Amino acid sequence: MPIVSGLVVRRSPVHGYGVVAQRRFMTGEVLIHAEGFIYGEDEVFDDTYALVLPTDDLPGIAGSFIYYDLVDQSRWINHSCEPNTEVESAIDSGTGLPIAWWIASRDIEPGEELFYDYAFVGSVAEPCGCGAPTCRGLIVDPDPVELAAIPEPLRPHLRLRATG
Ligand SMILES: [Zn+2]
Repeated sequence: MPIVSGLVVRRSPVHGYGVVAQRRFMTGEVLIHAEGFIYGEDEVFDDTYALVLPTDDLPGIAGSFIYYDLVDQSRWINHSCEPNTEVESAIDSGTGLPIAWWIASRDIEPGEELFYDYAFVGSVAEPCGCGAPTCRGLIVDPDPVELAAIPEPLRPHLRLRATG
C-alpha cells in the first residue's frame, strides 16, 4: 500500500487514529487516492473502515451498493459534521472497478486532522463526538428520509437545527 507524502497517521483526539496533514493543502487539491478491496452488499466482512459506494455506473447491479474496504492511510480518516475534505468516487473505465479519492474542501494547514462526512444512512447512524459547533449529534446523512430512519433509541442524540 502506498504511503502518501504530506499525510501521517496519528492518535486522534476525536476517535482512535486519524490522518494529519504535514504540509499545506489548497482547496480542491487531491489529498489521497484510496486503495482498497471490494465486497458485495451480501458478503460478510468487517465494514468498519469501508466506503459505501453506489453502483449506478456498474452494469447489471445499478441501484445497489458495494463496499470498498480501505487499506491505506485513507482508512484512518475520521468523520466530522464540519469536514475539511470530500470523497469523490467513480468507476475506472479500464478495470471496471471503483476508485475513490479525497479532495480538500478548504485550505488545510499543517497539523490539521483530515475529516470527511461519513453521512451514514439512518438505519446505521451512530453517536457523533466530532466536537464541531454544527455537530448533528449523530453520524448520519441529514437527508429527511435518512433522519426518519434513525432507530428510536438514538433519536435523543440528534441535534439538527431546523432548516429552511
Ligand atoms: Zn458531529
